[in-house]
Amino acid sequence: MGLERNCLVGSHVWVEDPTLAWIDGEVSKVDGKDVVIQTSDGRIVVEDMSKIFPKDMETPYVGVNDMTRLSYLHEPGVLHNLLTRYECNKIYTYTGNILIAINPFQRLPQLYDSETMEQYKGAPLGMLNPHVFAVADVAYRVMMNEGERNSILVSGESGSGKTETTKMLMCYLANLGGRVANERRTVEQQVLESNPVLEAFGNAKTVRNDNSSRFGKFVEIQFDGHGRISGAAIRTYLLERSRVCQISDPERNYHCFYRLCSAPPEEIEKYKLGNLKSYHYLNQSNCYELVGVNDAHDYLATRHAMDVVGISQEEQDAIFRVVAAILHLGNIEFEKEEVSEHAVIKDDQARFHLQMTAELLTCDPQALEDSLCKRVMITREEIIKRSLDPLGAIVGRDGLAKTIYSRLFDWLVEKINFSIGQDPDSNSLIGILDIYGFESFKTNSFEQFCINFTNEKLQQHFNQHIFKMEQEEYVNEQIDWSYIDFVDNQDVLDLIEKKPGGIIALLDEACMFPKSTHETFCQKLYQTFKTHKRFIKPKLSVTSFTIAHYAGEVPYDACQFLDKNKDYVVLEHQELLSASKCSFVAGLFPLIPDESTKSSKFSSIGSRFKLQLQQLMEYVNSTKPLYIRCVKPNNLLKPGIFDNVNVMQQLRCGGVLETIRISCAGYPTRRTFKEFIDRFSILCPTALEGNSYDEKAVCTRILGKIGLSGFQIGETKVFLRANQMAELDAARAVIL
Ligand code: ADP
Ligand code: MG
Repeated sequence: MGLERNCLVGSHVWVEDPTLAWIDGEVSKVDGKDVVIQTSDGRIVVEDMSKIFPKDMETPYVGVNDMTRLSYLHEPGVLHNLLTRYECNKIYTYTGNILIAINPFQRLPQLYDSETMEQYKGAPLGMLNPHVFAVADVAYRVMMNEGERNSILVSGESGSGKTETTKMLMCYLANLGGRVANERRTVEQQVLESNPVLEAFGNAKTVRNDNSSRFGKFVEIQFDGHGRISGAAIRTYLLERSRVCQISDPERNYHCFYRLCSAPPEEIEKYKLGNLKSYHYLNQSNCYELVGVNDAHDYLATRHAMDVVGISQEEQDAIFRVVAAILHLGNIEFEKEEVSEHAVIKDDQARFHLQMTAELLTCDPQALEDSLCKRVMITREEIIKRSLDPLGAIVGRDGLAKTIYSRLFDWLVEKINFSIGQDPDSNSLIGILDIYGFESFKTNSFEQFCINFTNEKLQQHFNQHIFKMEQEEYVNEQIDWSYIDFVDNQDVLDLIEKKPGGIIALLDEACMFPKSTHETFCQKLYQTFKTHKRFIKPKLSVTSFTIAHYAGEVPYDACQFLDKNKDYVVLEHQELLSASKCSFVAGLFPLIPDESTKSSKFSSIGSRFKLQLQQLMEYVNSTKPLYIRCVKPNNLLKPGIFDNVNVMQQLRCGGVLETIRISCAGYPTRRTFKEFIDRFSILCPTALEGNSYDEKAVCTRILGKIGLSGFQIGETKVFLRANQMAELDAARAVIL
């Protein structure tokens, strides 16, 4: 929807640009539908009239707090506003009631100090500068005054600032709902300190973020009748398991490994740890240290945070023993036995690590060796012990490492929940979601598939909500809104999660059928979704497929889908560890009584995740949602750089542009009667004449004089259709 009429020579416009996304310029000539523009960087471009957008020349120098206040609501206007604000460190901007937060990549202490926090307490939204504190405050007031449950949904791509934002929200709420009494371990302290514990075990350096959360997190904070925090529940989603044994340069494994290796000497001695670089699970990448991070210091900080959340010394010792055991486990190497080609422990070095692993896990070394090198096969007649080849032994070893680690992580989450405690009487809840944003890399695997599925779900919720809010505004103003259309992504969701017949269901089927391969799985997908609008079969590959997501097309490589979807613990591993003399280790592997059958039972990660998501969405649907969209202004993770094209893409994925689209389909520009009269009475000076001053009538008269149609006059505001503001301005420019 571009500029249709009144595109006058000399007017200022935005025109698309390959490197800047949009550039401004001045119209120098209009030739039929072609418009000639002199751009601000001194070029001449010709563009179709329908593709250029009017530039607002009256926006304040520092931009506007709320994007819906822009005179011209369109992509370039939004982008320009964000850029203008970012340049003066105004990193927060509203779009209606969505908060856009642009990562400053530098500490802005005055933005978060306790004085600022005080200011936001009880201040109505929009009175002060946009801020995460304002959003948290709204959530808290709505909960206290109207008894409504809230959820704050924070999204954005990796490194955009979700986790930092979440922590600030929690900090603000802890401050509001904190106790005055100086108890040693208050609930809110525990809630806050749960973050460093989870980050130690669930965060890692990636190319996108030095402290990237490799799991999704939903924290429900419970308040008592006096508005004080009385409990909290943390739920986590889909920890990235593969990172435990596979990392690529220049990324790192989970922080806890490096921290433990930098522990005080007596602990290093206790766990028989050597140089970081000697561990296979760490030395696949050349990155060991992070700029500005001291792992030795962080080790102690992690220990302290564990104290606060109520993890005992013995438990902490056991936890780090398990972490050390995983490092030793990764160094158990195998070689071929000469004749049989069976896997055997490679050398003395490997045997040392085997011994250490067994010691740290307090299990029998021979049993550990057997469980790594042999598999029990059950046939109808007998039970056979089959030896693995070295490759099979490595796959098994890594599988064991991943299982132990993910159980350890789950244990931590459960422990934190237990020790913070739940308040069963609480009806006042604020949920905060910090979950991975839409991902599209060169190669995308099962993880991206699940992540993007999550984002489709959230997007649907978001669209429905925004749509509803628009309708409410129109109803309040008593104007007709019947012609806004609504784009739904239900078709993508059906493609993924429909039961039976969706991709997850077909994947589960493939996993249960022993002869399936990723090729047969893909064949099945191609057949089933031959005509599906959202499914694309690639021309060349037979092991990949593409989904047309709301945020763009993503090609998925199906090669590891089957393996990654299967969550089963090898029976030998289960038996080995449940027999550990250490109750902590044994507790990570409880024996499930009715699974005594001697076969590893398949359980689907995809289906479990789908169920978790369903529960999350049910929860979110029962609350009043508040949205925070985090934006990463550049991929260099540096302050002061604003990459237009990149930001635009994120606004698209985050639904910000969709909001604008919905808004533009109706009446994107709204002005109170007074604002409208101040700006446009010059168009019709006679409109102001008369004894009784009726604002509504004045506005009607001004609009009548210009001859616009399609606009609406509400109870307090004038609602203009897209571009009508530009036409009014153009008429005004002629007079001025
Ligand atoms: P995400 O969780 O979205 O992947 P993070 O919240 O971990 O991203 O943020 C990545 C990094 O960006 C942080 O480690 C921090 O250095 C920086 N950062 C994010 N938000 C802010 C902020 N509001 N102020 C200062 N630095 C920030
Ligand atoms: Mg994060």
